[in-house]
Amino acid sequence: MQITGDMVIGYRTVHGSTGSQRAFNPTLNAPIAEPEFGLGGKNEVELAASLAAAAFDPYRNLPLAQRAAFLEAIAEEILQLGDALIERAHAESGLPIARLTGERGRTVGQLHLFAQVVRDGHFLSATIDTAQPDRQPLARADLRLAKIPLGPVAVFGASNFPLAFSVAGGDTASALAAGAPVIVKAHSAHLGTSEMVARAVQKAAQRQGMPEGVFSLLVGAGRELGEALVAHPEIKAVGFTGSRQGGLALLRIANNRAEPIPVYAEMSSINPVFLLPQALAARPEALAQGFADSLAMGAGQFCTNPGLVLAIDSPALTTFISAAATAIRAKGAQTMLTAGIHQAYEAGRAQVQAAAGVEQLAAGVTADHANAAQAALYVTSAQTLLANEALQSEMFGPASIVVKASSVDELLQVAQHLEGQLTATLHLEQGDHDSARALLPVLERKCGRILVNGFPTGVEVSHAMVHGGPFPATSNAMYTSVGASAIDRFLRPVCYQDLPDALRPEALQNGNALGLWRLVDGAPSQGAVG
Ligand code: NAP
Repeated sequence: MQITGDMVIGYRTVHGSTGSQRAFNPTLNAPIAEPEFGLGGKNEVELAASLAAAAFDPYRNLPLAQRAAFLEAIAEEILQLGDALIERAHAESGLPIARLTGERGRTVGQLHLFAQVVRDGHFLSATIDTAQPDRQPLARADLRLAKIPLGPVAVFGASNFPLAFSVAGGDTASALAAGAPVIVKAHSAHLGTSEMVARAVQKAAQRQGMPEGVFSLLVGAGRELGEALVAHPEIKAVGFTGSRQGGLALLRIANNRAEPIPVYAEMSSINPVFLLPQALAARPEALAQGFADSLAMGAGQFCTNPGLVLAIDSPALTTFISAAATAIRAKGAQTMLTAGIHQAYEAGRAQVQAAAGVEQLAAGVTADHANAAQAALYVTSAQTLLANEALQSEMFGPASIVVKASSVDELLQVAQHLEGQLTATLHLEQGDHDSARALLPVLERKCGRILVNGFPTGVEVSHAMVHGGPFPATSNAMYTSVGASAIDRFLRPVCYQDLPDALRPEALQNGNALGLWRLVDGAPSQGAVG
């Protein structure tokens, strides 16, 4: 497929005329010559939003099987792009081919999962309270609840997952599954990849006879185009993955609209890892190696990167630190996604390094090419961490801080002091259960996923996954952005009181032709009603 530098707006291709931008190869530290991407502005936002608004009712009212088939067709069309997609993503992101091939598998798998979610229909939460005309002192009306999509959704893809969390990634797949048209703002870090995937989505939409505005991809300078998109009255929700600053900027715009809308922003997390005493004593070297590998994977550019390790000072911690330092020293410098992300990483490291009471334990192999991140490990005390909020800032890259505590109580104190997180990890043995029992209620309040004897990088796309958590991990801790329940972000309940059966949504009709599991008078039922 030839990349033309055009936007995909409904079934059209539009070349933006408010400026131009070239894609960038972070490994070569040079722009990619061809093509020039035309930047869109307010006119393109208007066109995409009006098409999306027109597509909303026709799209959401399609039979569920058709909606599911559309998601599967997108997966097929992405695979049809073949190696060219992986090569382009590699050039634009510096991510290794093997990683991107795996990520494509995850993207396609995610689309299939949401197709299954749509077919299953459980996401509609179909609930029926049958009429009780003879109830005393007052009769009860027939009440039926089902969920409908919020309306067109704006998606801001992530730089660190150019496939699985970008144009046809988790936000887009879950919004389309909910029945919401999607407008993606292309991430400037992978413009060509975005266009290729957008064309695949467009092809799938045409093949499946979807209403035109079901999907669009806009290209434009983040602030101007992104702000106009979030401010547009036809947009009813926003999915975002990126910086705290960017997420908060979009949240402010959404809140200041005449009609405020939800922004589901996944922003920053340092993912504390607690090494409890018995586990630490049993396997300090193995923990050190596992930690260093998790930290350096993908140049540390994961939202679940283990940025903080907490343990009680002991000979076993000394062994852990020494083994972790050795493992970190052996880590090669890897190209980061963008020059900006590399600069932010360097600035974050410099801030930690300059902080009073923090010592650098080890640094990885020195970078000998542009935009490459040198791994780094620091150590500090629990009291220093408690006194310096800046040490809780995300260093997006392969750097982490080991925090020495004097007791379980001090570990608890630090846990209570932490900001909201995507994950918290406990390494434990049977003898650590009392300490874990004390920590768990605090960690439940702080994060979206608690894991044991593993490392937080690697987020399964499944039904039970939660990739969310209190601020600043996300802007809304009630939801997850990964896994089947990500669909809930784009739905709202509607209750139908005494609506004639013929006028009810199919999911709520007496006959239950869809064969859904429904809650009928408080009990699960797959049968007909009445
Ligand atoms: P970003 O700067 O927040 O950008 C994300 C997307 O939002 C881009 O499409 C960007 O547009 C747009 N955007 C940013 N600020 C905006 C604003 N004020 N108004 C409208 N649109 C805006 O994130 P990034 O470039 O991917 O990475 C920068 C930093 O974000 C990293 O160093 C890291 O700290 C953090 N990050 C965190 C995660 C995570 O999962 N927690 C993932 C990725 C990045 P443009 O493309 O035009 O700039």
